[in-house]
Amino acid sequence: MRPFEYGRAENEGQALTLGGRFLAGGTTLIDLMRLDVERPSLVTDITRLPLREIGNAGGGLRIGALASNTATAEHPLVRERYPLLSEAILAGASQQIRNMASMSGNVMQRTRCPYFRNLDFPRCNKRDIGSGCGAIEGDHRKHAVLGTSECCIAVHASDAAVALVALDCSLTLHGPEGEREVALTDFLLKPENHPELEHDLKPGELIVSLNLPALPWAVNGTYLKVRERESYAFALASAAVAVDLDGDTVRDVRIALGGVGTVPWRAREAEEALRGQPATRAAFEEAARVALRDARPLAQNAYKVGLARNVIVRALERVTGGPMTGERA
Ligand SMILES: Cc1cc2nc3c(=O)[nH]c(=O)nc-3n(C[C@H](O)[C@H](O)[C@H](O)COP(=O)(O)OP(=O)(O)OC[C@H]3O[C@@H](n4cnc5c(N)ncnc54)[C@H](O)[C@@H]3O)c2cc1C
Ligand code: SF4
Repeated sequence: MRPFEYGRAENEGQALTLGGRFLAGGTTLIDLMRLDVERPSLVTDITRLPLREIGNAGGGLRIGALASNTATAEHPLVRERYPLLSEAILAGASQQIRNMASMSGNVMQRTRCPYFRNLDFPRCNKRDIGSGCGAIEGDHRKHAVLGTSECCIAVHASDAAVALVALDCSLTLHGPEGEREVALTDFLLKPENHPELEHDLKPGELIVSLNLPALPWAVNGTYLKVRERESYAFALASAAVAVDLDGDTVRDVRIALGGVGTVPWRAREAEEALRGQPATRAAFEEAARVALRDARPLAQNAYKVGLARNVIVRALERVTGGPMTGERA
């Protein structure tokens, strides 16, 4: 690890004055500094800031940026009102990591693309602008099929962020220029020609909270994750869904995907296709087809298209009463 300056902020004002790279749980940042992928000259420890509270806000929920993954997943209001968020967090990492990890660090976590994380591989546009993409020409079995570009096909690794985008999460940011609120779907950026730009955090800005609007029918939601083994593995494909049924008809629905997109993927067109339809397997399969119709798979990750479709259908079946083969009973 390279030498760096360390500062510890006791309050928000100090954190904004010090600036540098903010250290929350450190489970991503310290890893990447050890690997020499991240090289901040100043690290500002924000763990003493009072940003851990989770509570009601305007009918919705405000989650302090430094609330741990464990505290968020186990919070009664999250479990009661947004069970898909709780399930998504618990499907990620290990208990020890979830205890350390913060919610802000979770959405800010960087990709697990091995070419990005290993300096022995010289080609990575995200790490070294213009150097090429080792994954497109190399091993891309676990890479993205949605939101990719010619420059980068890396998956956004967060499970929690998939549930958060399904729930229309916004972030409150405090910075030298003041306060602003931004939708998580606008905050996290697709790679396009600049894969090194991953988010819309301005220099010195601090995430202070994650905000969920009221969505009473989110109680009828779930998170389904497919991975190579049952613990300690990132998603090959995942879906966060919530459904509002009017009798047997889908009145409203939320669908977001993980493991397949360069950002946590909100499948808005699939939602549109499903609204007003009967809650049948045929309608779910059509929505899943729409969700993946713009997929751009490569040779080794084409399997993710079918896998993600199946995950969507299974998740929708789970929240609408189990596997169905025809019309709803
Ligand atoms: C072995 C292992 C397995 C894992 N498996 C999974 C998994 O299956 N699913 C999953 O979703 N995740 C997984 N993770 C990732 C883990 O969830 C993240 O590392 C963690 O959530 C990051 O949070 P942190 O608080 O430790 O962030 P840090 O490492 O402290 O910070 C990460 C980044 O966020 C920035 N940051 C943090 N907080 C703020 C803030 N308030 N304002 C501005 N910037 C901020 C930091 O500056 C840094 O750039 C795994 C991690 C490991 C090590
Ligand atoms: S997919 Fe993205 S992160 Fe991975 S090697 Fe290519 S440019 Fe780098």
